Amino acid sequence: MTINQQQIDFDAEHIWHPYTNLSQPTPTFSVESAEGVYLHLTNGQKVIDGMSSWWSTIHGYNHPKLNEAIIQQVSKMSHVMFGGLTHEPAISLCQKLVDITHPNLDKVFLADSGSISVEVALKMALQYWYSNTKLSEQKRKQKTKFLTIKNGYHGDTFAAMSVCDPVNGMHSMFEGVLQKHLFVEAPSCRNDADWQASDIEEFKNCIDENVDQIAAVILEPIVQGAGGMRIYCPEFLRQVRKLCDQHGVLLIFDEIATGFGRTGKLFAYEHAGVCPDILCVGKALTGGTMSLAATLCTETISSTISSFEGGNLMHGPTFMGNPLACAVANASLELLQNSNWQSQVNSIESQLENELAECAQLESVADVRVIGAIGVIELKQAVDMHVIQPRLVELGVWIRPFGKLLYIMPPYIINPAELTKLTDAMKTITLEAC
Ligand code: PMP
Repeated sequence: MTINQQQIDFDAEHIWHPYTNLSQPTPTFSVESAEGVYLHLTNGQKVIDGMSSWWSTIHGYNHPKLNEAIIQQVSKMSHVMFGGLTHEPAISLCQKLVDITHPNLDKVFLADSGSISVEVALKMALQYWYSNTKLSEQKRKQKTKFLTIKNGYHGDTFAAMSVCDPVNGMHSMFEGVLQKHLFVEAPSCRNDADWQASDIEEFKNCIDENVDQIAAVILEPIVQGAGGMRIYCPEFLRQVRKLCDQHGVLLIFDEIATGFGRTGKLFAYEHAGVCPDILCVGKALTGGTMSLAATLCTETISSTISSFEGGNLMHGPTFMGNPLACAVANASLELLQNSNWQSQVNSIESQLENELAECAQLESVADVRVIGAIGVIELKQAVDMHVIQPRLVELGVWIRPFGKLLYIMPPYIINPAELTKLTDAMKTITLEAC
């Protein structure tokens, strides 16, 4: 049924959209359907989605194989509790996740969203130390802090918020109630060629000084997403891994945005050739069809937690391992593995580099950066979403800037002409901002 004006008015009046002000909402556009890289708006317009619905729809919309997986599964069972019960879609999915991630990561917890997978990762790290009888009881209970770098983003739930950038991380109003963790500057070098020993100094000092309290380091490897769309060099991750090993601190990688090929490797940690102790994945896991995430960890972590007292990992959401979500995630991973995603992402990367480079010279631009299927123009001034969002739609694209960042991460199936339409729109906005 087509949406009517009354419903649109109801939406504006009653429904909170992500990060919006209900009194002065930024414009919302109604979507009728979506196909390939296109969103079909109710007003008849067709826009190219440069956001992959926030990193998730890597194969494009309305994919017949993903639809079929959902239809097949819905006719068997949409949901069944995961406590005491199991099913084939969840088992197949966890097998695939174990197969495609680093060999050390072989235990899987299925979560219902990215933020929850981060909560579970933090909980695993805390429970690991709480259960670690190699340490004295006093020492075990002291290891409750997380160390991270500024400009990070890990989700909107409370523990996840506490490891997001404390200043630009959108959550500063909750400062008083959030746990206090340890933050150091994010690395400024983008390539290993520019690496200097000083790039790890603050991190090294912080871990040295606080090792007795630190349960884990948590990072988005290679690309920091919503906290600034920053790209940093693999050497930083290698140094972090080394320091975590030397100090006996766990390492958590949040690959919720970067996982499943987005940066040109299946997982961004592959750029550095290091393995975390705990890994979070989500977003593109179901090809952008349903909410599902997962937290993987090593045998050392699971066996330590499991051998202490009750041994239970204390988490278990109602919709854990939802069969529909698992079935479509299986189909999405199969699609990915049988596709030429690597060359698709490489071509997107070269095209973004070629087409966005000229923007770096413009007066309004602070920086242009590209990695894999991610292209970012950082402006000198924040954009006015009330003006920019309708303008982008008028240009035939769906791009959702935040602050000073105009960025895209399109579906991997986008063709060169469609990608040019996105980069042209970015250039137009950038020129208009001059
Ligand atoms: N971590 C990262 C790196 C993310 O980009 C996001 C989502 N933007 C999250 C965690 C939270 O995921 P979700 O929105 O599914 O809760």
